[in-house]
Amino acid sequence: MSFSWLRKEVVESGLCRICGACVAACKPGVIEVERGPELVGECIECGLCSDVCPAINNLKSLGVDEFDRKKGFVVRSQKMDVIERSQDGGAVTSILISLLNSGLVDSAVVVGQTSDWKPIPLVVTEPGEVLDSAGTKFGSAPILSKVSEASEHGDVAVVGTPCQIEAARLLDERGIGNIKYFIGVFCMKNFQHELLFDLITDKAECKACDIKKIGINKGKFNYKAGEQESALKLSEIDHCIRPVCRECTDFESRYADISVGSVGSPKGWSTVIIRSEKGEELFKASKKHLDIDELGSQEPVDRLCRIKQKTV
Ligand SMILES: Cc1cc2nc3c(=O)[nH]c(=O)nc-3n(C[C@H](O)[C@H](O)[C@H](O)COP(=O)(O)OP(=O)(O)OC[C@H]3O[C@@H](n4cnc5c(N)ncnc54)[C@H](O)[C@@H]3O)c2cc1C
Ligand code: SF4
Ligand code: SF4
Ligand code: SF4
Repeated sequence: MSFSWLRKEVVESGLCRICGACVAACKPGVIEVERGPELVGECIECGLCSDVCPAINNLKSLGVDEFDRKKGFVVRSQKMDVIERSQDGGAVTSILISLLNSGLVDSAVVVGQTSDWKPIPLVVTEPGEVLDSAGTKFGSAPILSKVSEASEHGDVAVVGTPCQIEAARLLDERGIGNIKYFIGVFCMKNFQHELLFDLITDKAECKACDIKKIGINKGKFNYKAGEQESALKLSEIDHCIRPVCRECTDFESRYADISVGSVGSPKGWSTVIIRSEKGEELFKASKKHLDIDELGSQEPVDRLCRIKQKTV
């Protein structure tokens, strides 16, 4: 199979998740991905890019089972600089910093952003760089295109949405990259960055770089422009949802070692679900920098899983 086949079946059919796995599977400089994958070098028709694409493969058909939930916690970082910059309780940022500091990984692949909020994939090797990448960016970044670069440092932790975690596992199944830990975030929907920011900057009459914080909470899309905090109904941003997200059924990152979200926890805390032995291991390494409570009920997470499955 060739890149032209992948382009026709996935990219032109609107099924691309912009995960970047196809870039990691091919030789450097052959595929580029920003808005979507493009061939910029010579294709030798080896078919590897199709083998790792989550739009046409799934782990179940390869005999890889989803990870069940083992334990749930409500978590918050003990460090004020992490709390201030993170989306919820800073669980992901604290975990990544602990993994790097303890030498359990040598780098992580994360999503950073430009000054106008465009999500970009990044390889981080230092705690300060992890802190700079904290917070949710609404928009897709082809994080897995950075797996080869990250693997040059040694063992890698990947943070991603459920579709990106499935693609990361597909890469791992094919022996591509040194991914050691798979950290998933909950994800109901993702957005087309340009459409979303055109809408917010029009409403707020400001530039994208003047937006201070965005987030979704209790059925509202909240944003802060300068000192002014505003909220939009989710129906007002519905047209910005990426079409492929309307077909997606995994809310909780079922193939991750550990999944993290906000639902189920009080404001300013993260819900953390441990799903594998690796998940136990990485959570243990991070515990001394976290305030931790048991997650009382998993029903709020179950509810969103049900909603996501029903809407497809
Ligand atoms: C598109 C999207 C939709 C989400 N929807 C929900 C939801 O409906 N309900 C819910 O409970 N939680 C949702 N989450 C998860 C939530 O927003 C937080 O990411 C999660 O609670 C972790 O918070 P934290 O404070 O521990 O993370 P932080 O410590 O702030 O770290 C955030 C991490 O997320 C990564 N990241 C940021 N943006 C993206 C992105 N676009 N794609 C991949 N990785 C990214 C960063 O690399 C960083 O490592 C969503 C996340 C994303 C990215
Ligand atoms: S991975 Fe193989 S099939 Fe895909 S673009 Fe590269 S050379 Fe072509
Ligand atoms: S591997 Fe990812 S980026 Fe490449 S075509 Fe498939 S979904 Fe799109
Ligand atoms: S809704 Fe699904 S396809 Fe869209 S970003 Fe989230 S996990 Fe990926």
